Amino acid sequence: MGCGAIVLLLISSSLCLAQNLDQARRIQANVLGFDTHNDTVQRVIFEKVDLGQRLPDGMVDLPRLQEGGIHVPFFALWVPTYYPGAEAVRRTLDLRDAMQGVFDKYPDRIQLATSARDIERIVGQKKIAAVLTVEGGHQIDDDLGVLRMYRRMGILSMTLTHFRNNHWGDSSTDKPEHNGLTDFGKQVVREMNRIGMIVDISHVSDKTFYDALEVSTKPVIASHSSCFVYSDVPRNMKDDMFRALAKNGGVVGVNFSSSFLSQKDADELKTHIAERNQEQPNLTGADLDAFAAKEQLSLHPKVGNATVEDAAECIDHIVKVAGIDHVGIGSDFDGIPTVPQGLEDVSKMPNLTAALLKRGYTEKDIRKIMGENFLRVVREVVGE
Ligand SMILES: [Zn+2]
Repeated sequence: MGCGAIVLLLISSSLCLAQNLDQARRIQANVLGFDTHNDTVQRVIFEKVDLGQRLPDGMVDLPRLQEGGIHVPFFALWVPTYYPGAEAVRRTLDLRDAMQGVFDKYPDRIQLATSARDIERIVGQKKIAAVLTVEGGHQIDDDLGVLRMYRRMGILSMTLTHFRNNHWGDSSTDKPEHNGLTDFGKQVVREMNRIGMIVDISHVSDKTFYDALEVSTKPVIASHSSCFVYSDVPRNMKDDMFRALAKNGGVVGVNFSSSFLSQKDADELKTHIAERNQEQPNLTGADLDAFAAKEQLSLHPKVGNATVEDAAECIDHIVKVAGIDHVGIGSDFDGIPTVPQGLEDVSKMPNLTAALLKRGYTEKDIRKIMGENFLRVVREVVGE
């Protein structure tokens, strides 16, 4: 091959990539754009960031959500597992209040969505349709009344556990204690089914996952988990779990943590989880919040070894194992210690869409992955 031919080839391949990205941006602007997990409310409460502005750091704000085509972000009201009982309930209320502040400040740009129809209406008005979730069953303080009131406050889903076991369910990152879900844990799942709240199995142990599937009469989700086959962190899902989730009608949102996508970063995450599990301050109220703030503000996310191609690879794998109807996006932005190259914040989402186009995914497929699959679950569990 002559030199001229090589130059031509290089020009045409970079032209092709640019075309791909243009097409990806156009598609991404028109998808529903679900992302079933971010931890951005932690920044709102600790750093008092103004989500209406394009922030110089972090991964999520209103301008970047619009730019990335994520129109339906799930904001997790996460409380660390070291908050005991009623303290965890208080903190959940504080986080709910912090999000209310955002809704009240920008009513023309972001609105709380509490049904499938809400989501479609709000996105149709070119606003962000915010879905609220609770991350960790410990936050109900073993009380179904608290769970029901969370639902009344517009919270649409809850992960059964976080990093540690609670009184009724085993976590994937703790020693087995209950052999999955206790009788009360199963009651929690039934009550969530009854009141139209989505059961989220991210963070739970494999046995808890199978127990939840057995009890739930409605589809369940994994809001932010990835493929065990590419990174053997205990939080990731094995292929049999993807198949079982598909049979249940559920959807898994792929987590973008570099450690979840690449084995090269997995060990770092295991250390991070172990360190976080050791803390058990004997504090309450403002002192406990100050402790949590110190811990949160010490995290400085960096770019890891994984790339946007690894995220596409995990999506592709789940499609092959479970089918195109059972995969979505669950970035975990603003909660992950390492981000992949090319997916450093939510504005970079078109890079992922371009990677899927390059793999032969059609616009129809991409619409499912980017939101229609999760909208189906909201419609089935929460209702119109
Ligand atoms: Zn999480």
